[in-house]
Amino acid sequence: MRKKQYAVIGIGRFGESLIRELVRMGHEVLAIDTDESRVQDIADIATQAVQADSMDDKVLRALDITSFDAVIVAIGEDIEASILTSLTLKDMGVRKTIAKAQNHMHGKVLAKIGVDIVVHPERDMAIRLARTLVSNSIIEHIDLSADYGIWELVTPRTLVGKNLQNSGLRPKLGINILAIKTGDSIEVSPPPEHVINKDDILVVIGPTRSLEKLNEMD
Ligand code: ATP
Repeated sequence: MRKKQYAVIGIGRFGESLIRELVRMGHEVLAIDTDESRVQDIADIATQAVQADSMDDKVLRALDITSFDAVIVAIGEDIEASILTSLTLKDMGVRKTIAKAQNHMHGKVLAKIGVDIVVHPERDMAIRLARTLVSNSIIEHIDLSADYGIWELVTPRTLVGKNLQNSGLRPKLGINILAIKTGDSIEVSPPPEHVINKDDILVVIGPTRSLEKLNEMD
C-alpha cells in the first residue's frame, strides 16, 4: 500500500483518534490546531504538528495543503470555523476534502460547499449501535446511500434448506445475495441452486427497508 499524506485540522477526540489510526496504518499525518496544548499533546504521534488557524489561507498555503492526498476538517463545536476552513480548502483546490458535521444543517452546508465526504460520527454511530442492539443477526453493514446498503447477517431460520431461487429474496424484497460464508469458506456470486444452510452468513445488497425486514425474519 502506498504511504499517503493526510492533514487533520482540529485535534478534538475525533481528530486525535483519526490521527492515531492513520499513523498506526503507516501514513503521514499533519495535525493542525489553534490550541497550542493540543498540538503539544499530539506532537509525538503525528508526523508534523502545527499550531495555526485553518481559516487563514496564507497559513494553509505555507503548509502546502494542496499537496496532501486528503484533508480532514475535524473541527466540531465552532461551526463557522469548520465551514470557512472547508470553503477555503475547496477554493484552493485540495484533492479530497472530508468534514465532520455537528448537526444536520451543518452537514447540508458542508455538502453544498462541495466537501467530498461529510461524516456525522455521533449520528452514524448511534444508528449503528441501535441496529446492533435490536438485532442478534447483523454482523456488519455498509450504507451505500440513504436507501440502500450491503449487510452481512446470520441466516434467518426460515431460509435454511431453501435455495436462492426459492428463497424469494429477489422477487419479494429486491434483495440480492452477493456472497455466502460457510465456516472459513466463502462463495461469491452463488448460483440460484445454491442451498442456504444453518449457520451460513449472508452478504446481501438491497433497499434498507427490505434488509430490515430480512433481519426481522425468524
Ligand atoms: P470531538 O468530539 O472530536 O472532541 P469537538 O466538538 O469537541 O469534537 P472541538 O473541540 O470543537 O471538537 O474542535 C476540535 C478542535 O478544533 C479543537 O481542538 C479546536 O481548538 C480546533 N479548532 C477550532 N477552530 C479551529 C481553527 N480555526 N483552526 C484550527 N483548529 C481549530
